[in-house]
Amino acid sequence: MDLARYHRLRAAYYRLEGQRCPECGTIQFPPRPACRRCRKRALEPYRLSGRCAVHSYAEVAQAPRGFSAPYLVALVALEEGPRVAAQLTDVDAGDVTIGMPVEMVTRRIQERGPHGYLVYGYKFRPVLAGRPT
Ligand SMILES: [Zn+2]
Repeated sequence: MDLARYHRLRAAYYRLEGQRCPECGTIQFPPRPACRRCRKRALEPYRLSGRCAVHSYAEVAQAPRGFSAPYLVALVALEEGPRVAAQLTDVDAGDVTIGMPVEMVTRRIQERGPHGYLVYGYKFRPVLAGRPT
């Protein structure tokens, strides 16, 4: 992600803020210029609950530059419908299950981005036992 796009989307990522289309009711994340279903452009901010579950996952053994392997990536299904691809954190590969409840946390994504700065963003971790989901 380039620096301008990173700064534009940073707040939305940190708050897990998506969009709701007033025309067709579609909820989407991350924010985009238009509704992915009906292409309407005037979308409302929509605060997502943060309740989500692992839809699928994989372990990355060979990391691209700026990342350190191995790490886990998952397609996470948000309660409101959208699915988000992101890294899993604070969990071993052998402990991940499909349908496992996860929550979003802000973490360092890259040691050194293409412009030499640390890149932070969201990852997902297992919901800690005893906490409301
Ligand atoms: Zn729409």
